[in-house]
Amino acid sequence: MNFRRQAGLSKSLILKGMQCPKALYLTKNPPDFEFPPDPARDARFQAGSDVGIIAQGLFPGGVEVPYEGLSIPKQVEKTRQLIDQGINVIYEASFDFNGIFVKADILVRRDGMWEIHEVKMSTSVKEVNLDDVAIQHYVLSRCGLSVSRAFLVHIDNSYVRRGELDVHRLFASVDITDEVLKRQAALPAIIARLREDLQKGEPDIDIGPHCSDPYECDFIPWCWRHIPKDSIFSLRGRGIDKFAWYRQGTIRIEDLPLDALNGAQRFQAETTLNRQDVVEPDKIREFLDSLWYPLCHLDFETFDTPVPPFDGTRPYQKIPFQYSLHIQSSAGAEPEHCEYLVERGRDPRRELAERLLAEIPEEACVLTYNQAFEKGVLRGLAETFPDLADALNVRIDNIRDLMVPFKKRHVYRWQMRGSYSIKEVLPALVPDLTYKGLSIGEGGMAMLAYHEMCRTDDLFRLAEIRENLLEYCRLDTLAMVRILGALEGMVKKS
Ligand code: SF4
Repeated sequence: MNFRRQAGLSKSLILKGMQCPKALYLTKNPPDFEFPPDPARDARFQAGSDVGIIAQGLFPGGVEVPYEGLSIPKQVEKTRQLIDQGINVIYEASFDFNGIFVKADILVRRDGMWEIHEVKMSTSVKEVNLDDVAIQHYVLSRCGLSVSRAFLVHIDNSYVRRGELDVHRLFASVDITDEVLKRQAALPAIIARLREDLQKGEPDIDIGPHCSDPYECDFIPWCWRHIPKDSIFSLRGRGIDKFAWYRQGTIRIEDLPLDALNGAQRFQAETTLNRQDVVEPDKIREFLDSLWYPLCHLDFETFDTPVPPFDGTRPYQKIPFQYSLHIQSSAGAEPEHCEYLVERGRDPRRELAERLLAEIPEEACVLTYNQAFEKGVLRGLAETFPDLADALNVRIDNIRDLMVPFKKRHVYRWQMRGSYSIKEVLPALVPDLTYKGLSIGEGGMAMLAYHEMCRTDDLFRLAEIRENLLEYCRLDTLAMVRILGALEGMVKKS
């Protein structure tokens, strides 16, 4: 093993090693394993980088040390030159001390001393952020800089955009100097231990809560590959301490004593082990009797971003950009389909609300799957457009929730594995209709597709994304039509 090559660390590698030394080792020595792509991680990285650039507006007129196109020594050299030239604001300032490389988002010189401003797209300060800035402080100080204060700059989610983006209101800046200083004494030993661990080879560390705390580890597909599908980790909700049982050697549900489980987990375990279904026709009938026709199956897709894109929006507000509607005039009738997908670059909200009101008759029953989400979106539209509020509130009042019979376990198939999500309910009840094979298979992917739709310059790709989005959302409401049909079938049979 080449110690010299492996001893080089960066701030993110140290943070990774602090979460799990094995993750650091595997980053430096990747296993021969095909990791699935993680578009959500890539999107988070892109969003973080966009937020970092916007935050530079807090200290305008600075000079950036680019990452792209410059080797690490060149970035460090360029930073040193800027400092020597008397530049007082440096973006992405780069330092290397004893093989530890860090980049500080924004470095500001005041009265001959330096302030670190670390930008995060979270909405509060987290423990891991303190470690992050502590490492920067450690390296900068040892490179001879006098660091006066350290700040964590995060998104202020109380900000409501009015007109041009107000960068000073979008961000909140928290002085974390004391916490950063407190961590300085421990850092040399932490770094030395990580380097020693790297020399020793792959650490013998088993899976545990550290796999997703503070971050979801990149190596989960590798380290968790021995965990079967029906493992104790597939038990939903709070209940047993799964890692405590795992450490005692219990991995499969069938090896757990059922008495150890709470009601919900025991129900899941027993139905899984016994391949047992539940159907309560009277309860299903009660639910079906609460619906009426015409009946509109409605599903929204939304996106959110740390930077509010439109007037009147807040950071991370869910903004609808698409809906699908299947309208049935009577029970079992062939549904009529309507849909909306915004043209990119446009604020979808007004257009979407007006189209929706035109397509959902005032007297119709509006069926959703997980009503809290659709109600939240419609309430947001009603707040934004007071002139549409009365009409939107009528639709909100008419909402019923198809998730209820599954959440209350009036209908349960063991294949649902304790879940009542439509993604589990559909294959269990309507196996011929599937999300498998679609480019977009769940709401998170739809949001990523929306962001890609807004960014891409490739018109062919743009058309493809639009088609994928339409196909996915259409399937969501078609799934509801078929699930409703399956419930009606269960009542007829009884
Ligand atoms: S998956 Fe868990 S055990 Fe494996 S490297 Fe990551 S944190 Fe460590």
